[in-house]
Formats: sequence, structure tokens, C-alpha cells
Amino acid sequence: MKRLVILGGGVSGVGTALLAKEKGYDVFVSDKGKIKENYRDVLLNNEIEFEDEQHTELNILNADLIMKSPGIPDKVALIQKIRTAGITIVSEIEFASNYTDATLVAITGSNGKTTTATLTHHLLKQELNVGLAGNIGDSFAKQILEENHENYVLEVSSFQLDDISSFQPKIAVLTNITPDHLDRYDYKFENYIISKFRIVENQSNEDYFIYDADDEVISNWLQNNSIQSKKLPFSITQVVEEGAYLDNNNIIITIDNNKIIMPTANLRLQGKHNVKNAMAASTVAHLLKIRKQTIRESLENFQGVEHRLEHVLKINKVQYINDSKATNVNATYFALESMDAPTVWIVGGVDKGNDYTELYPFINEKVKAIICLGVDNAKLLDAFGNMVDIIVETQYIEEAVKIAYKVAEAGDNVLLSPACASCDLFENYEDRGRQFKNAVRNL
Ligand code: ADP
Repeated sequence: MKRLVILGGGVSGVGTALLAKEKGYDVFVSDKGKIKENYRDVLLNNEIEFEDEQHTELNILNADLIMKSPGIPDKVALIQKIRTAGITIVSEIEFASNYTDATLVAITGSNGKTTTATLTHHLLKQELNVGLAGNIGDSFAKQILEENHENYVLEVSSFQLDDISSFQPKIAVLTNITPDHLDRYDYKFENYIISKFRIVENQSNEDYFIYDADDEVISNWLQNNSIQSKKLPFSITQVVEEGAYLDNNNIIITIDNNKIIMPTANLRLQGKHNVKNAMAASTVAHLLKIRKQTIRESLENFQGVEHRLEHVLKINKVQYINDSKATNVNATYFALESMDAPTVWIVGGVDKGNDYTELYPFINEKVKAIICLGVDNAKLLDAFGNMVDIIVETQYIEEAVKIAYKVAEAGDNVLLSPACASCDLFENYEDRGRQFKNAVRNL
């Protein structure tokens, strides 16, 4: 019996444990932190051995195979020991994909993964049996065990791609590449780029690669490296023969001479970045033979995902928008770009080495006031202090919202798009977004 040790008793760890047990592995789950009550119960009920608040090396280094949660960095001493011992480490998507014949659509990128994956799932589920997994929702491994879908849309992070060896999606999507998580890549952007492109490394010439052709990092890489996959670029600036492009506010998608045309005016999601996300998702849907009419209708009624340019409420003709998931400058760039009215902008948190200069044109053009919401706002005050008449700071989100309420006039937007991580004042970005929405509702 092969021994599989799973490091991390969260959603992917426990899901993998269940699938592995069913497939005849001797399974052991080890978590350095405390395993949540509901996951403990699942492990106990299924008689899966586990430990938490410790890693007992003796019971780990005797593994034939290790599945590690994507949250655990390679630098950790235990991981180093496992590598030295020559034990293979895999990610959940690698392990689980060996146990399904389903068509896999894998979506990665620095920004837009969740939106594109959710939208793709929304388009496909109208006509196909399809699961949504990866960094989102229920565990991929668990769904293979319990639901056995014929198709999966997987949101895949670079951390998961770091631990693949044979993972081969039928369709790979790369939304964009901008510097992020560089602390996990020796502060080398190049390493992060390589990691993202691993999504195509096992693809054959029967598989598809859908990518943003306007992204310079992506196009440079493709110029210098050859891949097997059939390429389907999407672009909002140039015409493409195969793939998707924009023509007078219509998205045109061509695959094997089969065209589909969709007016962007009917898209529920706003902003250029969402036109791109819609292009990527519709290209997948077109490839998988979803009817044109279905694609059009589903694009129109897709509501978006919570905390991504989410329209919260309109109060006194002022629109309040929650973009708490914007934890880097690139995401905020697209949020500000999509603003169609004078905007009161709430920004700040933990800065990951941000360069704010690319936002300057939007500040001049549409931002009327800036509210800095962080423990340390010095860098923001320095970057934007001379650019707007009103710039204030606070450590309380209720206060930030109240100030915004006072400053905003009919027709304006109030936008929370922090460009920073949330951990100085909040548990996570969801917590920040929810507190924002509560504060707006309490106005
Ligand atoms: P991810 O899962 O990659 O973090 P999300 O869909 O959750 O991506 O979006 C994260 C943030 O990036 C949100 O603020 C969203 O508005 C913004 N965003 C979404 N799609 C794109 C895109 N294609 N390019 C840049 N920013 C985007």
C-alpha cells in the first residue's frame, strides 16, 4: 500500500485525503496549525489518520508521495527535508486529475482568475455537466470522488502550478501576468512568469491555450519560447484571426472559421478588464460548443463575483462600489479606469512594494478625494498628497465611509479599491469588503 502524506488539513487537503483513501492509499494528514472542527469531523468519520499543531517528521518522511497545500512555501525546513529525501511533492490538481477523464479547463493569471473561472462555469453549466474547483469552492479531489462531473473549470494559482508534473488541461487560460507574490519566487519576476506558463507545459497540439495578447509579458514569453498548444489569443487592441477581438463594441470570436458576435453593451460586468474576462470565458464556451445564443444570454445575466467591483447601493444618487479584492495596483488600475463618474477613492492597507505612478492619469482625470485606510498611510500621502484637494486618513472603515458620504455629490462614485493587502486592519479581503458593505448599509 502506498503512503500518501498530506500537508495541510484545509479544503484541498481533506478533499485529497478522501479521494486517496478511496483509491487505496495509506493516508496521513499533518497540519502545523489547528485543523478546523468540520474538517476534523470528516477525517474522523472516514477513519483517516491525522495530527495537527505539529508535524511529526517520522510519520512524514516515510511517505511515498506528499501532497502539500499551496499555502506552504518551499522555503519551510520540512519541505526542504522532503526534497532532500527525494520524495515527490504534488499539488491537489496534479494528484486528483489522475483520477478523472473529465475535460479540464484550467484558468490562471495574476488578476481575474476568480471572475473568469466563475463566468466560464456560468456559461458552461447552461448546457454541460460541469464543476467549479481549484482555488474556489469545494475541493477538486472531493468533487471527483463524489460528483464525477464530465467537465471541470479549475481556478489555478501559481503555487499549485509549482507542484505539477503531468497535469494537462484540455484548455488553459492565462488572463495576464503582473508582479505578485514575488516573496515566494526569490523576488524574481522571471521565476513567477515561468511558474504561470507551466499551465501549458504538458499540453499537446490537440489542446488549447487562451491568453491575453495585449499583455506584453505574455507575448514576450511566447516569442522566446515555443509551445505545443493551439493558441487562441484575445485582444482589445488588435484584430486576431483565430481567437477573440473587439470590433466597434462587439466581441468577435473565431474558431475554425466559426464566428460568434457579442455586443459588449449588454455585458453586465463593467470595465475593460471584464471585457477581456468575458472574451476568455466565451472562447472556452465556444470551444466546448455552447450555443451562441446561450453564451450571449449568460453573459448578460452574469452578476459578477462578490468583492470585485461589486455594486453595493446607490444612496442620494451616489454609487458605492466594493472592490476589496483589489489587493494590488494592477487590479485597482482597472477599477479606476472603469469609473465613469467623479470618484471618491478609498485605498490602503499593507503595501506590497507598490508603484502608484501608473494610476496618476486616473487620479487627475476622475478622483476627487482620497481616503487612506491603513495603519501606515505615509506612502499614499506621499504619492497622492499633491494631486487631489481632499486627502484624509483613518483606521476605521465606518469613518472612511462616513467621510466619503460627506464628500460625494449626486452622480459620483465611492470606490473601495485598496491596491493593498488587508491584514493590517482586517482578517482578509472578504472581511474588509463585508465591513465596507455594512458601513454603507448603515449610512
Ligand atoms: P484573482 O482570482 O486572480 O485574484 P479576481 O477575479 O478575484 O482575480 O479579481 C481580483 C481583482 O482584479 C479585482 O479587483 C478585479 O476587479 C480585478 N480584475 C479582474 N479581472 C481582471 C483583469 N483581467 N485584469 C486586471 N484586473 C482584473
